[in-house]
Amino acid sequence: MSLRSIGGDDLARFHEARGVKDISCSRCGTSNWQIESVDVVPASAIPELTADGTVRAPGFKTLILGCKNCANLWLMAYEPIAEWLEEHPA
Ligand SMILES: [Zn+2]
Repeated sequence: MSLRSIGGDDLARFHEARGVKDISCSRCGTSNWQIESVDVVPASAIPELTADGTVRAPGFKTLILGCKNCANLWLMAYEPIAEWLEEHPA
């Protein structure tokens, strides 16, 4: 599965459009994030073998930010952000 990358500028535009005012870390209060990855976080530890022989691991498409100060992770659902970016190109 190929997920589009989401940059800091894209995320800032999404947050502004959706009224996100406070991006400070819930643990340490700084606002010094880096995008760690766009990935599928497994919802189950046990992958399924499907009828056609492929392996499927149910999961959530997730955008993961890491606080550079305290290492807290901020997980966001990927799809609503990606859809908004498709509809609102820079
Ligand atoms: Zn922090």
